[in-house]
Amino acid sequence: MSSPLKDRIIKSIKAEGPMNVAAYMATCLMDPVNGFYATRDPLGSEGDFITAPEISQMFGEMLGLWCIQTWRDLGSPDSFNLIELGPGRGVMMLDILRAARIDKDFLRAAEIHLLEASPALQAVQAKTLSASPSRIIWADKLEDIPQQPTILLANEFLDCLPIRQFVGKDGKWHERLVAIHPENETELIFALSPLPYEHDEIAHFGRANEGELAEFCPSYAQIINEIRMRLWLYPGRALLIDYGPEKFETGDTLQAIAKHQKVDPLLAPGEADITARVDFSHLLHLARKEGLTAHGPQPQVIMLSELGIEQRAKMLAKTQADKGNSQAGDKIARQLSRLTAPEEMGQLFKAISLQSKTLLPPPGFSFHRKDLTDRQA
Ligand code: SAH
Repeated sequence: MSSPLKDRIIKSIKAEGPMNVAAYMATCLMDPVNGFYATRDPLGSEGDFITAPEISQMFGEMLGLWCIQTWRDLGSPDSFNLIELGPGRGVMMLDILRAARIDKDFLRAAEIHLLEASPALQAVQAKTLSASPSRIIWADKLEDIPQQPTILLANEFLDCLPIRQFVGKDGKWHERLVAIHPENETELIFALSPLPYEHDEIAHFGRANEGELAEFCPSYAQIINEIRMRLWLYPGRALLIDYGPEKFETGDTLQAIAKHQKVDPLLAPGEADITARVDFSHLLHLARKEGLTAHGPQPQVIMLSELGIEQRAKMLAKTQADKGNSQAGDKIARQLSRLTAPEEMGQLFKAISLQSKTLLPPPGFSFHRKDLTDRQA
C-alpha cells in the first residue's frame, strides 16, 4: 500500500539511510504536508479514534472542578495560566470552562493558552471555543507562555510524543530503525542498528535480553524540565492523563490506528494515528529528580470517582429525564462505563500530577498509597 508520505520517506531513506522510530513517528504525525495531525481532524466517532473528552462532557467537567480546586489551592491568584497541551478539538477546554461558571472569579483570572502543533486542529479549536468569555492564546512553545501561577493539563498528548525503540542483541541494546524492504523497494521494514547504544538515558532498561524490546521517549526530559522551571518561579500544578502501565515494562507498544482499527504502523504513514504507551514511572522519576512533588499514577476510574463523576452522571440523567428524554439515562450510563470501567478506560488510563513544593495533595489523588510516601518525604 502506498501513501504520499511513504514515497517521500522511502526517498529520504535512500538518500540518508534508515531513520530511527522517533524520526519516523514525528514525520507520520506532524509532517507539514502529509502528517496525520498536521493535515486533518482525526478525532471523534466519525474520525479515526475517540478520546475521553469526546466520549462525554462529564470528563472535561470533572477536570473543571479539579482546576477550580487547584486555583484555590494556589491562593486564588488574580491572574493565572490555564495551559492545555495538545487540545485536539478543544472539547475538553470547552467543558472545563462551562463547569467553571460556578466560580466567576476563577474564570476572570484565567488566561487560556493552548499548545497545538497542528494548524488543522488549531482551526477546529478556535471554532469550538469561539463563544468562550476568556481570551484564548495559542503558543508554539511552553517557554513562550508568560510566567505566572499555572495550571497545566494534557490528555492523550504524551502518547503522541515520538519514542525510540531498542532491541537486545548479544547482551547490548541496539536501536530499531525503519529501512526499505530489501526485496520490495516500495515497502518499509524494521531493521536494527549494527552499533550498540550505550547511554545513561536508557540505563533504566536493565539487562538486554536477546530479542527483548524496550522504549524510551526523549521528549519527556524536556517537558518535565519546562514544567519545573514554571512551577519553581510561581506556584502551579499539572495533570497529565494517558494510557500506560504503572511500572516500566519492556515490549513493543507502537500502535497505529485508522478508522478505529489497528493497522501496521509501516503500511501507510501519515494515514494512521501512531502512539505508544506512556512510561509513567520514568516521568515521575524525572519530575522528582527535578525537585517537583509528584502524585500517581492514579487510575482514571479512581480520579474521576473522587472528583464526583457518578454524582454528575446521576444529575445529568435526571435533568434529561425531567425534560422528557427517557433514553438519555442509558446513554449517560454507557458513557460513564466507557470512562471508568476497568475493562474499558478506567484502569489502563492513568493520571499523574506534578506540583510546586508546599501545596496540598491534588484533588482526585487522595486515595493512593504514593500520596502517603510523598507526604512523609
Ligand atoms: N487532548 C485531546 C487530543 C488528543 S490527540 C483529546 O483528548 O481529545 C493529541 C493532540 O496533541 C492533538 O491535538 C495533536 O495535534 C497534539 N500534538 C501532538 N504532538 C504535539 C506536539 N509535539 N506539540 C503540540 N501538540 C501536539
